[in-house]
Amino acid sequence: MDTADAELHGTHGGEGMTLIGWTLRAWRCWLLLACLCCPLWAVAFERAELVLPPGTERVALAPQLAYHHDAEDLDDLATAWRRVDGGEMMPLPDGVDAFGFQRGTFWFHARVVNREVHEPRWMLVQEYPLSDEVDLHVRYADGRVLHFAGGDHRPFASRAVRYRHPNFSFELPVGEPVDLLVRVRSQSSMQVPLQLYTPKAFTEVSRDAQLAIGLYYGIMLALFFYNLVLWLSLRDASYFWYLCHVSAFGLVLFTLNGLGFEYLWPHAPWMADHMVPISICLALVAMLQFSRTFLELPRRWPHGNVLLLALMAFFVLFGIASIWLPLRISTPVASRAVLVGVVGIVIATIVVLRRGYAPASLLLLAWSMFLLGTAAFTLLAFGLLPKNFATEYGVQIGSALEMLLLSIALGHRYAALRQENLRITAEANLRLERKVAQRTQEVRSALLRLEDAHARLRDSSRRDGLTGLYNRSWFREAFRDLAQQAKHSGTPLAVLMIDLDHFKSINDRHGHLAGDDCLRWAARCIGRILRPHDALLARFGGEEFVVAIPDCGLAEAGVIAEAIRYQLGDEACPSGQTRIRVTASIGVHVLDPQADTDLDDVLGSADCALYAAKANGRDCVELSTAG
Ligand code: GH3
Ligand code: MG
Ligand code: MG
Repeated sequence: MDTADAELHGTHGGEGMTLIGWTLRAWRCWLLLACLCCPLWAVAFERAELVLPPGTERVALAPQLAYHHDAEDLDDLATAWRRVDGGEMMPLPDGVDAFGFQRGTFWFHARVVNREVHEPRWMLVQEYPLSDEVDLHVRYADGRVLHFAGGDHRPFASRAVRYRHPNFSFELPVGEPVDLLVRVRSQSSMQVPLQLYTPKAFTEVSRDAQLAIGLYYGIMLALFFYNLVLWLSLRDASYFWYLCHVSAFGLVLFTLNGLGFEYLWPHAPWMADHMVPISICLALVAMLQFSRTFLELPRRWPHGNVLLLALMAFFVLFGIASIWLPLRISTPVASRAVLVGVVGIVIATIVVLRRGYAPASLLLLAWSMFLLGTAAFTLLAFGLLPKNFATEYGVQIGSALEMLLLSIALGHRYAALRQENLRITAEANLRLERKVAQRTQEVRSALLRLEDAHARLRDSSRRDGLTGLYNRSWFREAFRDLAQQAKHSGTPLAVLMIDLDHFKSINDRHGHLAGDDCLRWAARCIGRILRPHDALLARFGGEEFVVAIPDCGLAEAGVIAEAIRYQLGDEACPSGQTRIRVTASIGVHVLDPQADTDLDDVLGSADCALYAAKANGRDCVELSTAG
């Protein structure tokens, strides 16, 4: 990302980092020291001709290049030639052909002698694409001077070869010294890495470079469209910001490589100049926003979120300001701010990673790749690594790997989110199931309670409140079933009508409460006697009770009735401090299982027997004679 600074500050037509600029500046100081120790060497150096021996295909002009900085823009072409002829041009300071941002015009001169008989035609290539105006004047031994114009303030079509670097094609007659005078003016950084190529060598070098660039942008495009499809289907904001990041970063390198001028704005010099800081700011805004959403900073590290938002605000404002700011301010500031932005992102990534967010590790690896690639390029510029494809295109390789890893990180994060969602859904389902089970249990027990209450209600509606025995209406219902069973089985069904004797006088003598005691006590006594007989006992009303005994003949019923009568008369009923003697008269009737007998008739017969018992003096049992 920091490549602008390298392209603009000190590397030959390549892409690098701010680091490279600093490194080369240190290197320059060392060379300056060497030059001070040996001034004669510098003079001798300037006068040397650049001889192109047979077999030469490519040569850098820098070692034989002399220059003059016309800061006030006073010299015309004639003055410049006079300086060349008068030996006023100086060798490049510490041999480096990069001067940073400078005002005015730079003149460069080299005298070339071509000894390669097979190559009369040569190409001069300025391997830095952002210079505004590059003018080449070629002076032959016969005094003839040719002029060629290039740079990104001139039409792209005027280039000898349609290529991203300004290039000029001209004759170098064999054995004849030719003066090359190059005039450069630029708002961008003053870098003049001039190379002479044979047309064949230039074709091969540019072919390799185009392949590398094509590969790089091919990867970028593939990643872009792949993630575009993912974003369209997933609608995850991280994918959108990733797309912005890839596009903006691609635009930065596209501009720095000179491809922006070649393909996007060949007629807009303003764009060619200003798109460098603007695209850097765009790339950083997208990169910061991507990191914020990817790392979920607002939730995971609110302070880091504020930090990244502040950085984003800076890049937005500075990007807008770059429209008006001079390039010598906007480009270096934007390039250096990139380092701050990347450090901010790396810190946020490490913090979030330490807080246990696993997908952040891939993000960290992605940035490491980027920094590694850029470091390889820096070490190449420093001379510590050999020049090969990997080191020369370190920035491109590093950034391509970075974007690839970011894309993988996005996939990883998506998978993690999906896993998390599945886990949350499973947990929610489990909770729901538990709740449903609990609610079902509650409903079930409420139903049971309700059933119980209903049963109790139904039972209490069947019972007499005083004695707890069944009441008359329930007796009628239950009796119908017993009569049916008796009919089906052909067994007799006995009915007993029991009436307490002189109960009115008990009430009168002992009070109604004592009378109630007597009723309860009589009910218990009768129930006790009937227990072995599976009989149906009910309070018929007042002091009268009715009993139905299944499978019981008249004789047996008479015995049971006697037992009841005896039990009642045998012991007195305890009521408070007193004991009340209670007797009962009992009428017994037995149903004929074959006859279709009506209940009222049955009861009437039993009642008749009871009346007979009353008439017989009470405290006795009378058997019905009715059929
Ligand atoms: P008999 O021997 O002819 O049956 O005479 P009796 O007095 O028992 O008969 P009667 O029908 O004249 O009187 C029944 C009395 O039973 C009248 C009523 O006050 C009383 N009685 C009816 N129901 C209750 C009750 O729930 N509690 C009390 N304490 N007395 C009741
Ligand atoms: Mg009575
Ligand atoms: Mg009575």
